[in-house]
Amino acid sequence: MIITGSIAEVGKQVKEWKLNGLCVGLVPTMGYLHEGHASLIEKSVSLCDKTVASVFVNPTQFGPGEDLETYPRDFSHDCELLKSRGCDMVFHPDAAEMYPPDFATWVEVQSDMPKQLCGKTRPIHFRGVCTVVNKLFNIVTPDMAFFGQKDAQQLAIIRRMVRDLSMNVEIVGCPIVREKDGLARSSRNTYLNEQERAAAPVLFRSIQHGRELIKKGERDARRLIASMKELLEKEALARIDYVDAVDGETMLPVNILDTGVLVAMAVYIGKTRLIDNFTVDSSLLSGK
Ligand code: AMP
Repeated sequence: MIITGSIAEVGKQVKEWKLNGLCVGLVPTMGYLHEGHASLIEKSVSLCDKTVASVFVNPTQFGPGEDLETYPRDFSHDCELLKSRGCDMVFHPDAAEMYPPDFATWVEVQSDMPKQLCGKTRPIHFRGVCTVVNKLFNIVTPDMAFFGQKDAQQLAIIRRMVRDLSMNVEIVGCPIVREKDGLARSSRNTYLNEQERAAAPVLFRSIQHGRELIKKGERDARRLIASMKELLEKEALARIDYVDAVDGETMLPVNILDTGVLVAMAVYIGKTRLIDNFTVDSSLLSGK
């Protein structure tokens, strides 16, 4: 497995692969990798000839007071995991390689989409995400790029950016990987102390509760959200940031629960902000 922090070296290697007619997959990450990331790598390895993972804690997607400095890092463990799952190259640049001191160019979806859900409390987040993903696409020139449904708003915004800017890359969404007790895998789970870790599956329980209500015939988004919030509020360590039902493509609020609706939440457990979601599909609506 090639490990490099150099944009030029990535470019040279990918050019050689492409001259040999190979298909290249990209998995962008911020490191501290877990089974959720591993599932993206495995998907890329199964669909592409070569897989590139980027490990970069992108400063431009963190707002003031967020966890940029404390974000967990363990690059040697990341490399072990990536190598064991068949990754061919790791791109691990430092911030100076990605952002020259006079950096001044941004990519932003300028609709209401990035202002919903996480955008309400993280106003510059998706501008940072789109900009860095755009840069990674330019550096790696992947045929396919893999993103987790765990960050459903990010995935939808990236799909929109790719469509709007006619980017020549296929975006592949991958299902949420969970712990045994339902907690969605996240690098930030490491912030949770023992008590908080025991409380954290309340997000998944409220998702299961929401899914059950829909199976039983609930179609009113407001009632569903109120009932999910009620369950979350029973957990003393939980503080709700939002629970919303939105159109899965536009991220705009909906009133009726129909196919393609995204039900998403952000909940603080102690000081740690966790996100989770599910999408309403035809099997849920038919009660299965
Ligand atoms: P991050 O390192 O948190 O920026 O995540 C990198 C990629 O991994 C993103 O596309 C995430 O959506 C995806 N990802 C993170 N956690 C999970 C998970 N539990 N299941 C599936 N994908 C995930």
